[in-house]
Amino acid sequence: MNTAHRVPPLHDKLPEVGTTIFTVMSRLAQEVGAINLSQGFPDHPIDPAMIDLVDRAMRDGHNQYAPMPGLPALRSALVDKAAKLYGYNYDAETEVTVTAGATQALFTTIAALVSVGDEVIIIDPAYDCYAPAVRLFGGVPVHVPLTASMTIDLEALRAAFGPRTRALIINTPHNPAGTILHASDMQAIAELLRDSDAVLISDEVYEHMVFDGAAHQSAIRYPELRERAFVVFSFGKVFHATGWKVGYVFAPEKLMTLFRKVHQFNVFSVNTPVQHAFAHYLADPAHYDGLSAFFQAKRDHFAQGMKHSRFRLLPCQGSYFQLADYSAISDEGDLAFAERLAREHGVASIPLSPFYHRPPADQRILRFCFAKQVSTLDAAIERLCRI
Ligand code: PMP
Ligand code: GLN
Repeated sequence: MNTAHRVPPLHDKLPEVGTTIFTVMSRLAQEVGAINLSQGFPDHPIDPAMIDLVDRAMRDGHNQYAPMPGLPALRSALVDKAAKLYGYNYDAETEVTVTAGATQALFTTIAALVSVGDEVIIIDPAYDCYAPAVRLFGGVPVHVPLTASMTIDLEALRAAFGPRTRALIINTPHNPAGTILHASDMQAIAELLRDSDAVLISDEVYEHMVFDGAAHQSAIRYPELRERAFVVFSFGKVFHATGWKVGYVFAPEKLMTLFRKVHQFNVFSVNTPVQHAFAHYLADPAHYDGLSAFFQAKRDHFAQGMKHSRFRLLPCQGSYFQLADYSAISDEGDLAFAERLAREHGVASIPLSPFYHRPPADQRILRFCFAKQVSTLDAAIERLCRI
């Protein structure tokens, strides 16, 4: 008698995917005791007032399910913030949904939009969660590279549109490039979308990290864009609390109806006491108004220190990431060099190639996160300048 248990055959829906580079590099940093400038998160404490607000919400008994689209008080605070910053009043009842971070907002948007064979245009280098989500739903990512100077290539973008294009994903300020889209880019994108049925997915989690006096060009500012857009944000970035995993998405009612159909079965609703806390905390614009200056000072501090290194820094206009070309130091590939940098020199970074469908052959670039205390940055600078 055959007593072997039957093992169900497994079908890997994402055969090319391993563990994310952020997890790999943060784990390596921990293992070898390297200064961690890899995964994007701040190393300074959050505002204790936020902790008090969550504590108060819990003690006041706000510990059961929040309404599916999010707490009404938080939704109206978000609508007010967008109106103040970007000049448009979304409907708090029907056009904003609170999510478990931007990752879930993006995933649910893609789940709601993409069917088998639908194409989604992704601009490379791209944040790592877009393409796998598209593929999970049978969609086809269409990758369009940025130019060598990390700006948008409008001709290549135009050529990527076709009859199956379901969505275009943009990201400003950009992770990992550290570039921003300008008003002229947004107008050009509006023009490209004009003749297409594609939806825009605009990832704006770094909205409050825009430097040198530039203004964040949210898709919300552009009527033609916002009428067909899901615009995604994250409290993790804005309030230095990436571990709280709360974000939100705006979209016109018709699109949001599709989103919520999926959201209700994906997470149903999001952490109630944290939503209460953010609803209160958002009431004071001082809690986010100074962030660009705060992060610009960190960018400048890091850049100043790195002047004495052999790394060549690329322009950084936004986000909390600084790209650095290491070709004067080594001709190793970026995965190998990043690993050696962590193991032998004690600084963890993120290699750039995992952000590409097809990484440029001779690119020698690492990403450093500068959302760190000055003491952390100084210790890293000292090590990097010795190489
Ligand atoms: N988009 C971009 C561009 C990001 O860098 C990140 C990571 N912070 C996310 C989305 C995901 O954000 P969250 O942590 O809120 O899920
Ligand atoms: N967004 C963060 C980064 O770019 C990482 C978030 C994650 O680890 N998924 O580093």
